[in-house]
Amino acid sequence: MSLHEFEVIARYFSQTFPHRADVIFGVGDDAALCVAPNGMQLAIAIDTLVAGVHFPLKTAPKDIGYKALAVNLSDMAAMGATPAWMTLALTCPPDTHENWLADFSSGLRELAECYQVSLIGGDTTTGPLTITIQVTGLIPEQMALHRHGAQPGDGIYVTGTLGDAGLGLASIQQQLRLPVLARHQVESRLNRPTPRLREGQALRGIATSAIDISDGLVADLEHILTASQIGASIYLEQLPLSTVLREQLSLEAAWQLALGAGDDYELCFTVPQHQETALSTALGTGSYTRIGMIETLSGLRCVNASGQLFIPKSKGYQHGFNFNPDDPDNR
Ligand code: ADP
Ligand code: MG
Repeated sequence: MSLHEFEVIARYFSQTFPHRADVIFGVGDDAALCVAPNGMQLAIAIDTLVAGVHFPLKTAPKDIGYKALAVNLSDMAAMGATPAWMTLALTCPPDTHENWLADFSSGLRELAECYQVSLIGGDTTTGPLTITIQVTGLIPEQMALHRHGAQPGDGIYVTGTLGDAGLGLASIQQQLRLPVLARHQVESRLNRPTPRLREGQALRGIATSAIDISDGLVADLEHILTASQIGASIYLEQLPLSTVLREQLSLEAAWQLALGAGDDYELCFTVPQHQETALSTALGTGSYTRIGMIETLSGLRCVNASGQLFIPKSKGYQHGFNFNPDDPDNR
């Protein structure tokens, strides 16, 4: 980086982001000062993107900026919160070009402007490319959506379609031969996920539990099941699949991606039967799909229309830690 740290901050991460009246002091002091409105609780989430782990090394810097915020806004959506402020810890290699910073900052700003999220501070360091964003959102007291709370008999629902980002990743990593339009569609689902903020906020008071799908449907739904201490069935034929997935893959391959691939950032949530009308009024039909049912029997079962069990090959992404439990330093 030929620019000095403070020039980088001044040029790319201060003035041009949305201004909010509830920010008393943003970038430029030792800490930011914000005002939380009466009657609101703060929802706080943080997510890190590591180059080569959370996005392919060749990802366009604009998309990296966009995605770094999108994954955090998705956590806000899953809580039913409205995002307000963010901080950014940016670590990039010392030879990072100014164009990279300009593009990264513009992708980040594009999404920040959509939802009026203020960039109120951060940290800028050199090292392997890593982006951490922490977002704070606002939510009326006692109205947050949680992973716990799902009850037997509740329907299980998801927004949007599943598996597209997984096909996008396969398209990049395995250089699949997809038609140009299809490739653009799935790679854009991977690089620019849509945080389901409108849906999350509309689900307050209707959903009994919610989570965003970052690691894969099965992996993330299992978090709801564990937190709620119940089980569930997913009906394969009801999984919402995009036209691209249906046209480019066998049904079984599409199900594998819909169940096991991450990065879709759709919401998965549960709703009791008596709230189904409220649900369709709140979200509007067409933006969500019922995919299963919460049951008393623990565990998660993926079944087809003839009642046969289907075992997904992947249960979703997990970071591995290679520590040796026998090493005395690890105890
Ligand atoms: P300190 O020395 O107190 O840790 P810094 O010198 O790291 O502060 O940062 C100076 C100011 O710039 C602080 O207000 C900090 O929040 C802000 N800042 C640093 N890096 C970023 C960034 N990448 N994006 C936004 N604000 C940043
Ligand atoms: Mg300081």
